[in-house]
Amino acid sequence: MQPRDLSAHEAYVPGRGAEEVARDLGMDPEELTKLSSNENPHGPSPAAVEAVETAAPDVNVYPKASHSDLTDRIAEKWGVDPAQVWLSAGADGSIDYLSRAFLEPNDDILVPAPGFSYYSMSARYHHGDASTYRIAKEGDFEQSAESILSVYEGERIVYATTPHNPTGSVLSREDVRTLAERVDEQTLVVVDEAYAEYAAESTSIELLDEYDNLAVLRTFSKAYGLAGLRIGYAVVPSEWADAYARVNTPFAANELACRAALAAIDDEEHLERSVETARWARQYYRDELDVPTWASGGNFVLCEVGDATAVADAAQRRGVIVRDTSSFGLPECVRVSCGTREETQRAVAVLNEVVADVRPEATEP
Ligand code: PMP
Repeated sequence: MQPRDLSAHEAYVPGRGAEEVARDLGMDPEELTKLSSNENPHGPSPAAVEAVETAAPDVNVYPKASHSDLTDRIAEKWGVDPAQVWLSAGADGSIDYLSRAFLEPNDDILVPAPGFSYYSMSARYHHGDASTYRIAKEGDFEQSAESILSVYEGERIVYATTPHNPTGSVLSREDVRTLAERVDEQTLVVVDEAYAEYAAESTSIELLDEYDNLAVLRTFSKAYGLAGLRIGYAVVPSEWADAYARVNTPFAANELACRAALAAIDDEEHLERSVETARWARQYYRDELDVPTWASGGNFVLCEVGDATAVADAAQRRGVIVRDTSSFGLPECVRVSCGTREETQRAVAVLNEVVADVRPEATEP
């Protein structure tokens, strides 16, 4: 007995966790600064923690009211109809729902390279496949509708990530508009705004009443600090919003996650603090790191360090976990998440030391 042929499927490579690294190195997890998964260094909103504690005794009941309360609140926030909000277990869950709703066997999707690996993983789970468009280092990872359209061949879904993981580059809303207008009628453009709170651009959700071939992904994992609860959503045009009922996994957005998200969405102070810290930290990285870095709209910065694996290993031994971007196809770079001021300063000190040791000829940015 074997599963179906999974040879084309790649396993997701997550950033390394503090406990895992501490175990490997015989260190105390407390000594480690984890800046490998773009998590919120301020933790969740205290209001979300309280909501989880309050809801905990009721988790014997399926999440129904909390799901619709959160859907309504998100719809109100964006000025859309509640039916247009597809709640899911993380934005990852919404990627699956869109794959289920759109892909027939052998359909292709078009995704950025380098880029977030789950788009193509999800397409393959759903018996489709993925082609890539380049976000080129030679062009400082700048994104444009033109470069996507130059390789577009009528794929069923086109993904755009803004701000883009792992480079931090942004795609303008005018470019999103161009994409929506120029792709074929049967192509869905998905704008992944997982990191949008940290950027200056306004959301493409505002375009949904103009285009019926656009969907926008959002998450509570990053700026709202709820990665461990797995809660995110897609906002889709009203024309086909009812497909949700046919593709969602029942109750995948769990009770604690829905209650926490409801509390977090109204904690503006926590959100502002999270965004402000990330904006400070990404500038600090750009100013203080002794290696080339790229402007980022997210809560992370991509750094060219030479041998990423050697640098990430050495940094880890000195207590700072960063993301080696080899699995993204950038073996010469690491991605470092924005920490608190103290964590960010520690990361800069350690990375500068390590880069000087590992690659004495390190160039100035
Ligand atoms: N999109 C991008 C670009 C991401 O980097 C991530 C998380 N790493 C996600 C989507 C998914 O986030 P989540 O499932 O935690 O909401």
